[in-house]
Amino acid sequence: MPAQIIDGIALSALLRGKLEHDVSALTGAGCRPGLAVILVGENPASKVYVRNKIKACAHIGIHSELYELPSDVSEKQVLDQIRALNAAPHIDGILVQLPLPVQVDEGKVLETLSVEKDVDGFHVQNVGSLVVGKPGFVPCTPAGCMAMLDHIGCPIEGREAVVVGRSNIVGKPMALMLLQRSATVTICTSRTADLAFHTRRADILVVATGKPRMIGADMVKPGAVVIDVGINRLLDGKLVGDVDFDAVSARAGWITPVPGGVGPMTITMLLANTVRSAQRRADSVST
Ligand code: NDP
Repeated sequence: MPAQIIDGIALSALLRGKLEHDVSALTGAGCRPGLAVILVGENPASKVYVRNKIKACAHIGIHSELYELPSDVSEKQVLDQIRALNAAPHIDGILVQLPLPVQVDEGKVLETLSVEKDVDGFHVQNVGSLVVGKPGFVPCTPAGCMAMLDHIGCPIEGREAVVVGRSNIVGKPMALMLLQRSATVTICTSRTADLAFHTRRADILVVATGKPRMIGADMVKPGAVVIDVGINRLLDGKLVGDVDFDAVSARAGWITPVPGGVGPMTITMLLANTVRSAQRRADSVST
């Protein structure tokens, strides 16, 4: 039997519908959620991501502001912009679209963000909270993957989970979130000696490598839940994931498509984090 599809568009619509209600209540209480997005330079992919995020905000009533800075901007100018937004009372979330040009230190940028407005969950303090299991903002892409697993009722505790990729924005936080839920977690990297040995043991397989269709059917356990984070554009313009969707669909129990899987969920989690931050502002005003 072919794998069941985990539809990120449908789940996003469901969750965004709920968020829209929260936004409306917060706006009515005088605390309309606000997101500021800083985009540096002319990276076409970044421009598309930012446009989609702004559009998603507007769709559910979140106020958004876009700050477009030239690619030769100085680090100081970026940090000054962040500090101004940290202090802006109507802004609940600040997102700096990565990557940044070489003259701007990414680490410095992320650490200048207010921890309370770091809706991407990249500030080292939020990362630390995730490591020790304290509440804080968690990165949107792995949070979206967890929401998908929960939506299909996938048991996590005690299961074998394999994460392929160890980036700070996807692989590592994904592994930590699965560990938090008591999965037995393996992290694979480009240096892993026998990747298929590990992936074949996975009840839950999350792939975030940026290598088109690198996971074939022979690397997947029958019935596994496969979450494909990858977004790769082929020379013919087609978007594909890191998993060979057609082949793996014949073997897995559940699978996310690309496009229409993790991508929309990432934006939904950004909206959720922004609403949560606004909720905290509203609570602090009322107490
Ligand atoms: P990075 O390039 O930062 O990290 C890729 C990771 O994959 C590295 O840890 C690398 O290992 C590992 N890797 C690469 N090749 C192999 C291999 N052959 N076997 C095992 N591991 C390998 O990428 P990101 O984590 O930022 O993104 C990964 C993918 O996810 C990309 O396609 C990106 O576009 C997509 N993405 C999608 C999002 C969404 O919303 N759907 C959001 C963010 C990213 P090593 O560390 O050893 O080099």
